[in-house]
Amino acid sequence: MMTIDELMQLIDKEIPLNKAESWDNVGLLIGDKNAEITNILTTLDCTIEVVEEALVKGYNTIICHHPLIFSSIKQIENKGYGAVIQLLIKHDMNLIALHTNLDAHHQGVSAMIADKLQLVNQTILVPNRRSMAKLQLFVPSSHVEQVKAALGEAGAGQVGNYSDCFFQVEGKGQFKPDENADPYTGQAGKLEVVEEIKLECVFDPQLRSQVEQALIKSHPYEEPAYDVYDFQVEDVFGTGIKAELKHPVQIGSWLKEVKSMLNIDSLRLIGSADQEIRTVGIIGGAGMNYMSAVQKTGVDVFLTGDIKYHEAHDLLMAGLTTVDIQHYSEVVMKDGLKALLESLGIQVTVISSSIDTNPFTLY
Ligand SMILES: [Zn+2]
Repeated sequence: MMTIDELMQLIDKEIPLNKAESWDNVGLLIGDKNAEITNILTTLDCTIEVVEEALVKGYNTIICHHPLIFSSIKQIENKGYGAVIQLLIKHDMNLIALHTNLDAHHQGVSAMIADKLQLVNQTILVPNRRSMAKLQLFVPSSHVEQVKAALGEAGAGQVGNYSDCFFQVEGKGQFKPDENADPYTGQAGKLEVVEEIKLECVFDPQLRSQVEQALIKSHPYEEPAYDVYDFQVEDVFGTGIKAELKHPVQIGSWLKEVKSMLNIDSLRLIGSADQEIRTVGIIGGAGMNYMSAVQKTGVDVFLTGDIKYHEAHDLLMAGLTTVDIQHYSEVVMKDGLKALLESLGIQVTVISSSIDTNPFTLY
């Protein structure tokens, strides 16, 4: 058995909620953290039919991609979205939304689409950047281990799954104390030369004050010499997926396969159908805000949804061959999320909803 709280902790470790965009609304939207999960139903959208499906199957937890509760709610009447919320609450159901935090994951929705298209060599298309800080300091050899231990304790020297990451090199430091100084070693007015270690490590800039405190406390000198500078690194989270076809193909013929592999009723090409392509950039849902970033990646073709008429002209002008695969192509996340949760060792059964929530009907 597993509680909602345990599930949320497992999710937050792998698909962190704080990786969601600031405008988004992810996490437990409706429910009780202490509730025991019977089974989980995954869906792209939480409609009344999806809730009814969960009720019939006896599942008390639904994980949706698009948040049912998004902008502020002024009343919950028994109609429209309010009726869905009421039905969930009436039956003690739990509703979890994993939206842009799932998009940002390297096995997220865009990767799930890339998997369906059997694309290889998948990497994040537009990686997030995150700030890091680097500390460089000088300490007499006698105290280097003491300083390292204190810095490690304060959270410095942590790189991914590795702790105690330091680099050090030996050298000579020199200083001349004046008459007001209280030097650890040496005398006023006399040049002192000491065997020192130059020590380097990185740390999360949010830990800056505790790292500096640890350094000052553990260092024997009255005035420890150190400097800190900020830099940016690529995060393992980001937007979209860059991937490759196993062999170059003519885009026109490939799109027929795309349609059947994604099980969509139509798609729209913006660009020439004769072009030979190999690299593909995918942003599930609506990815046009990333148009210039995608162009810089140099992919042969860009797959996304919700492209407007004038945006299509912009794409033609920019020479970025693009395919509108419909927002609903994200529906592959129903099975994709089931597989991702199962790979995390989840203790309950996960089933993908059989309800089609595509609001469009093709005529
Ligand atoms: Zn979407």
